[in-house]
Amino acid sequence: MSNSKDNIKKGSCPVYKKCGGCQLQNLTYEEQLKYKQNKVKRLLEKFCPVDPIIGMDNPYHYRNKVQAAFWTDKKGKIISGVYQSGTHHIVGIDSCQTEDIIADKIIVAVRKLLPSFKLTTYNEDAGKGFLRHILVKRGFSTNQIMLVLVTGTPVFPSKNNFVKAILKQFPAITTIVQNINPYRTNLVLGDNQKILYGKGYIEDILCECKFRISPKSFYQINPVQTEILYSKAIEFANLNGNETVLDTYCGIGTIGIIAAKHGAGKVIGAELNGDAVRDAIVNARTNNLKNIRFFKADAGEFMHNISSENEKPDVVFMDPPRAGSDTKFLDSLIKMSPNTVVYVSCNPETLARDLEYLTKSSVFKVKKIQPVDMFPHTAHIECVVLISDIRNKSTKR
Ligand code: SAH
Repeated sequence: MSNSKDNIKKGSCPVYKKCGGCQLQNLTYEEQLKYKQNKVKRLLEKFCPVDPIIGMDNPYHYRNKVQAAFWTDKKGKIISGVYQSGTHHIVGIDSCQTEDIIADKIIVAVRKLLPSFKLTTYNEDAGKGFLRHILVKRGFSTNQIMLVLVTGTPVFPSKNNFVKAILKQFPAITTIVQNINPYRTNLVLGDNQKILYGKGYIEDILCECKFRISPKSFYQINPVQTEILYSKAIEFANLNGNETVLDTYCGIGTIGIIAAKHGAGKVIGAELNGDAVRDAIVNARTNNLKNIRFFKADAGEFMHNISSENEKPDVVFMDPPRAGSDTKFLDSLIKMSPNTVVYVSCNPETLARDLEYLTKSSVFKVKKIQPVDMFPHTAHIECVVLISDIRNKSTKR
């Protein structure tokens, strides 16, 4: 087929079954989009008609954040790759059809350098060894690259020479960070980190705004589709310049900052991760925005406090993790009843649950549902939903 969407044969990845990360590789991209559209319809059509899913023109190598785990097999060979879905078994891979090509090359290069520096891999069972994971993040618009080496111990033998060697092969790397994770945990990143080279963060540009991204901050992994997703969210908010806007579960402040640039009167953001909040504060400054503040808080707690102060925001953006929101948050939202809620969701099941809760209140009605394919070849589905206060006659949104 000449269409670039289908230029890689379905199921052509050699580790498709072993890895389990791309659950839909048995389908062509067109079939995947149809499958996702139908799933969203099945779960959400009862609230409002579902707009056609927005897919990618080129749905390959879209991931700008790539992680690899390291392991030494019984013969002493070092393997890097991904965890088989739902297990702790590492599937060795050198490249992946969804991952950034340069990021994959950096991971292989680090693996090949390890023996010459006598650096070991971390053994989880023994709780011993050096390199656990690698994380590479690349700024799609700026081309800045961050390499994070996650190590089981703080001591990094031949650190300077190792850094020199990897930079020699990849001069495009702009920062290298050592993250220390000595814990028996499924979490990739530990609490402590040292900057080995560069600034310790990268920057990227989305919807004409500049964002700083730290190793631990959440940042959408598909920059091409993220611009589409955020533009839809801003379109749904229909800002006119005077609104008080809340950006909840705001990460590094992306949606709130773009809303402020697009004319929101005042923006208040809330996020649980302290590193992300720090990035959000810097990002507001970088983009010359004075009408925006960020708080480190549980979103439900934050909403509860705002509602007790009798604040009435005009627009609330909410972008919770896969588990969705909670009743503390949703009850406060119903109490404050903003004219417009824009719900960005990465899980249509929890989205359906939360929409059920919100519409049951007879305060809100779902007006628009727009699925966006942020994760081609995987079963993950992202949606932007416009919810309006039905009692507000002035709301012609
Ligand atoms: N809106 C951002 C981030 C979305 S991801 C963006 O588009 O980039 C969801 C975010 O919710 C993550 O940054 C996560 O750290 C944060 N989060 C998770 N649980 C939370 C909670 N209970 N309260 C506030 N933020 C939370």
